[in-house]
Amino acid sequence: MKKISAVLFAALTLGLSAPAFAKVNVVSTLQDFASIAESIGGNRVDAFALAKGYQDPHFVDAKPSFIVRLSRADLLVVAGLELEIGYLPPLIDQSRNDKIHAGNAGYLDASVGCDILQRPTTQVTRAMGDVHPYGNPHYWTDPENGRIIARAIARKLSELDPAGKAVYEKNLAAFETKLTEKEKEWDGKMAPYAGTKVVTFHDSWPNFAKHFKLVVAGHVEPKPGIPPSPSHTLEIINLIQAQKIPVIIVEPYFDSKTPKSIAEKTGAAMLTFYPSVGGVPEIKDYFSLFDKDIDTFVAAMKAKK
Ligand SMILES: [Zn+2]
Repeated sequence: MKKISAVLFAALTLGLSAPAFAKVNVVSTLQDFASIAESIGGNRVDAFALAKGYQDPHFVDAKPSFIVRLSRADLLVVAGLELEIGYLPPLIDQSRNDKIHAGNAGYLDASVGCDILQRPTTQVTRAMGDVHPYGNPHYWTDPENGRIIARAIARKLSELDPAGKAVYEKNLAAFETKLTEKEKEWDGKMAPYAGTKVVTFHDSWPNFAKHFKLVVAGHVEPKPGIPPSPSHTLEIINLIQAQKIPVIIVEPYFDSKTPKSIAEKTGAAMLTFYPSVGGVPEIKDYFSLFDKDIDTFVAAMKAKK
């Protein structure tokens, strides 16, 4: 007894961050969700993302260590809408962790409640052969969806760890206050470019475009998940020339050969846009994600004048 108190006392006086509670183990597919979970959970939460921000979130190389992470997870946060269908289901099965199966307490589909675009109006069949069959799964690129995701994560953490409820609510309030401030700044920077047409490589940006009032006029991919083809590339070149589209937005994990050649032929600027936290080290949280992409866009537009 005496010994335990001494150890506790030492831990307290040393200010060790060993809290007197078990941390909530959060595993997310995207780094964006892990970052938001860290903002909300503080030191009550350990968060780990399977897909790094510089990787294509549709196709992640599954590592054996992922199964270990998932086996220990209290909460799994996914984008849903089949974004992770290519790699996640077998990992969940192999983790043998019932808590994180869809429908169970430790599973959170972050798309629920978000503004989801391109929901199908006809029955979806595999023959359609693209990777967005149930609506566009890249919805976290609208900061207002980030707010909804943060609220859902806070609610879920409070459910799983009721003792932390006050902390989660306080951190959520701080997150939302900062998000509101940052949105004013971002909206202000983007306002002069409202209505600007852009071409994007993959259809990753409809929510970003909606929030920041850009118009996505076309994609380098003929269909989501289908690589560029010569005939479609020619169509995009013609489109950019006809509509004087100033920029081509490319996610960091695609081969830049085709968009580069389109840019050279048309004079449009090719920009790397990061869809996720961790895309480059300076994008360390959900706020710096928008800082980075918006600054890239604004700099390119100013250079065009
Ligand atoms: Zn996609």
